[in-house]
Amino acid sequence: MEKIPMMRSFVPSFEEYCHEIRPLWDSRMLTNMGKLHKSFEEQLTAYLGVSQVSLFANGHLALEMTLQALHLYGEVITTPYTFVSTTHAIARSNLTPVFCDIREDDFTIDPEQIEERINKNTVAIVPVHVYGNVCDVHAIDRIAKKHGLKVIYDAAHAFGVRYQGRGIGNFGDASMFSFHATKPFHSVEGGAVTFDDPALGQILYDLKNFGIHNTESVEGIGANAKMSEFHAAMGLCNLRHIDAIIEHGRGVAERYNSRLRQVPGLYSSCWQENPDVQPNYAYYPLIVDETKFGRTRDELMAVLAEADILTRKYFYPLISDLSCYRNIYSSGRTPVAQTLSRRVLTLPMFSELEDEDVDRICDVIEAATR
Ligand SMILES: *Cc1c(COP(=O)(O)O)cnc(C)c1O
Repeated sequence: MEKIPMMRSFVPSFEEYCHEIRPLWDSRMLTNMGKLHKSFEEQLTAYLGVSQVSLFANGHLALEMTLQALHLYGEVITTPYTFVSTTHAIARSNLTPVFCDIREDDFTIDPEQIEERINKNTVAIVPVHVYGNVCDVHAIDRIAKKHGLKVIYDAAHAFGVRYQGRGIGNFGDASMFSFHATKPFHSVEGGAVTFDDPALGQILYDLKNFGIHNTESVEGIGANAKMSEFHAAMGLCNLRHIDAIIEHGRGVAERYNSRLRQVPGLYSSCWQENPDVQPNYAYYPLIVDETKFGRTRDELMAVLAEADILTRKYFYPLISDLSCYRNIYSSGRTPVAQTLSRRVLTLPMFSELEDEDVDRICDVIEAATR
């Protein structure tokens, strides 16, 4: 039988992409905030329903530059249950990550544990809308206001998610999106920051272009984090398909749900129904409780691999356990994150995944129960 990968990048038709990049052969404006860059920014602003969008070469640099643009110095409260980029962006901006535990049902930062980690050095909170699950944005907002903290969301997983009728990029001071090829919406490599404050937009614009404010004035110590016209072109093409990709993901998630809900010892945040949330079905995380399922997460992963089905321990290990962090920062007490990272397996989820593939995956999982 054919191998089922964990993920397969969406591509528009070859002709569609070629049509999009054709004008570049005449204009020779291949990068440096050209026409496609401008058009991509405008279309994203409308699609995400936000007031401002700033494009970047990737999501990671978008987050780093935002932390730097806000002139933060001190401690940042975040979770260890994320992709390593979140913590790297904090640490590389000379800030100290402080790890806070997550909620058991949706894996986002537990607002009830944020305040006990706040001290006079705390300057910001970087919560993660992990798997596209919406953080408790109102509670986080209240805490941030009370203590004068900035809130920068890692919304890398949350493209297209809406909460209470508003685009997810409208919460906090800024939100970072990733358009990496492995994300449901992508521009090969790419990312963006959404925010309200036009002054922040100007700082970000300068920072991603070496800090050059105009030809004779360099005001900030910037980097090069610009998105090229070729990447913007891919983003413009894929934006035409994202609604269909999300709709397909809904079908896949519902099919997984209807089969896996019956299996003892399994849990997924995709089972939660929240009328306030319009999801993007980007990931299908499965929590394997070995005491009830009869096998550990690693055993289930091996059984699936044996059947040519690839899954991922996303996120394992916890960031606070990685060798680059273990000995520098306090790991904090994050027992929920610890347990979930040992039990989580993300199942295949991508635009070409067929109903028969989902059935085959569920058959193997059901048969693995003991
Ligand atoms: C993908 C991802 C990033 C980094 O985005 P890139 O565009 O790959 O740089 C950051 N945080 C999370 C949670 C991600 O999944």
